[in-house]
Amino acid sequence: MERVNDIDLGKFKVWNAITGTKQETKISATFFSLVRNSELQGMLDSIKYLNERFDNAKYGYSWVFANEEPFLETFIAAVRSAFTSGTPHFVQIPTEYWSYPDFIDQDKAAKERAKLDRERVMYAKSESYRHMCRFNSGFFFELDVMQQFRYYWRVEPNIKFQCDLPTDLFQEMADGGYVYGWTMSMPEGRKTVVGLWEASKKFFEENPSYVHPNNSMQWVSSSDGSEYNMCHYWSNFELGDMEFFRSDAYREYFKALDRTGGYFYSRWGDAPVHSIAVSFLADKLKIRHFDNTGYYHKPNQGCPMDDQLRKDLHCDCEPTKEWTWHKFSCTQQFYKLSGLEIPKLEPAEEY
Ligand code: GDP
Ligand code: MN
Repeated sequence: MERVNDIDLGKFKVWNAITGTKQETKISATFFSLVRNSELQGMLDSIKYLNERFDNAKYGYSWVFANEEPFLETFIAAVRSAFTSGTPHFVQIPTEYWSYPDFIDQDKAAKERAKLDRERVMYAKSESYRHMCRFNSGFFFELDVMQQFRYYWRVEPNIKFQCDLPTDLFQEMADGGYVYGWTMSMPEGRKTVVGLWEASKKFFEENPSYVHPNNSMQWVSSSDGSEYNMCHYWSNFELGDMEFFRSDAYREYFKALDRTGGYFYSRWGDAPVHSIAVSFLADKLKIRHFDNTGYYHKPNQGCPMDDQLRKDLHCDCEPTKEWTWHKFSCTQQFYKLSGLEIPKLEPAEEY
């Protein structure tokens, strides 16, 4: 395929490509990384893994880097030099997306942080972690720079892709009309989501028209809605259709959660929030599992169990460490619920 010229049509870039008589439309999509200046090395490593495993030279997708502080020139220069195709954007997050809303009682928040710390919850004391979770729940898709894009693919520093990604995941999202894509799932720590289920249930009960008739709420509740089963898509890898996140349903859901103060009085993560939202508000057939990515984010590894598949995808991961299909993950339940076939091979029991 030969790229002839780019025509910028406002929101959507159209490629005039000669493929016989067919004109191909480029997907409006971007990688997205929230990252600190101090994480430069880890960010470069992640970019390197993607460059190696995903053919962005062919697709030329953009990459947005966001930070609540200004990016240092040294950060920008180093990241730029890692780019062989696609445009990197560096943006500072507006204060309104990374600060305490006026309805938060900050003394109460401090007391709750200390309490969670006594309960030995990870990141219990961290205020920035809470701003991060709130930003990733409700605001990343509202950034000015993101308005030109429809799909995003979140990439954190210090992740790995240890298998080839031979297809265009954005294209798969667009072709299938998927609203959300994920690779690993697992149960959340109970102490971080106190009140989240109640607030969510209240919202869905008050707004039944937002709940999708073909939803997958059973994936997040094994008791027909009475309790949260802690299952969530691990959002450090995720692809999404921002039309979903920019819908009235999602925006209002986030606002309702935010008003309860749970991001600051507890430590709600963006992963359970995205997962509960997608499970209630989306068609279950529009949630896409991307398997065999060889994705690694500490401490979990995805690695195809099938020897031939591992060879074909040039994976350099260790299959005994495979977590995706582990019985403690929630992946099998998703497949059962969606009527999909579960691969025959099971990960090692002892892991
Ligand atoms: P974990 O995956 O839950 O352990 O959390 P991480 O520390 O990996 O944070 C999640 C994402 O948010 C990563 O992409 C981090 O680089 C980013 N992040 C976390 N805290 C901050 C912060 O205070 N400022 C910025 N700019 N990014 C942050
Ligand atoms: Mn992380």
